[in-house]
Amino acid sequence: MDSASAATLNGACAPKRANGAAESRAALLRGGGGFGIIYGAMDIVILLGAPGSGKGTVAGKLAADNANLSHVSSGDLLREAIAKGTAAGLEAKGYMEKGELVPDALIAAMIKDVVSATTGDKTMLLDGFPRNLAQAEILAQMGVSVRAAVLIDVPDDIILGRILGRRTCPNCKAGYHVTNLPPKVEGICDKCGTRLTIRKDDNPDTVQDRLAVYHRQTEPLIEYYGAKGILRKVDGNADIEVVAKAFMEQL
Ligand code: AMP
Repeated sequence: MDSASAATLNGACAPKRANGAAESRAALLRGGGGFGIIYGAMDIVILLGAPGSGKGTVAGKLAADNANLSHVSSGDLLREAIAKGTAAGLEAKGYMEKGELVPDALIAAMIKDVVSATTGDKTMLLDGFPRNLAQAEILAQMGVSVRAAVLIDVPDDIILGRILGRRTCPNCKAGYHVTNLPPKVEGICDKCGTRLTIRKDDNPDTVQDRLAVYHRQTEPLIEYYGAKGILRKVDGNADIEVVAKAFMEQL
């Protein structure tokens, strides 16, 4: 990123709260309970887009490049819960392997926990949540401030090749692609040296199911956030650097 973009980025994401507001929010959060609680003005940017559109890669890069941004991925939270063998993870596993959405209450509780535990003034890039209208309403009830919902637009025919070449570091979560973003040493994470893995749900059959779920359940969010006047779009069929820059220009 050039310095001009970085300056815009820093300006765009500069803390907007008065001094002490973050502490007040933390105090509110400590009393948090159901989804009806007002959590305070946490600043959130939602990433919308099909599986394989690059949401995680873009958000990961932006958060790594900018101290004012954090990245929260609902899919990563679920995969961590499965790896730890928690009750939520056990419940989620079957849905995820079939490419279906996990129950709203399960994922919403995880997001609520992250929001509750988050302090400081970073803008949160929320990747993978909400995934349907019911989840969007749950998020709205959490009282967070959704600054924008940015759609990373990629045609379905490009998605398949992207997902099937995708590799992930199970340790530090860095994402790669066998041709578009290969690691320096084949099969090994550049950042931590761990052997890369293929996600269980990144197989041709499950990908078709996940795309169908996206069109049926998640796409209505485009109209939902459009009606609120906060929908932005970027062309996701480009190099990661180009998509990341275009993304920041929309904030
Ligand atoms: P992702 O890593 O975002 O592609 O998510 C992988 C899988 O996790 C999805 O196919 C769903 O089974 C599940 N998942 C992730 N986020 C959500 C969500 N917000 N609601 C329901 N299921 C989700």
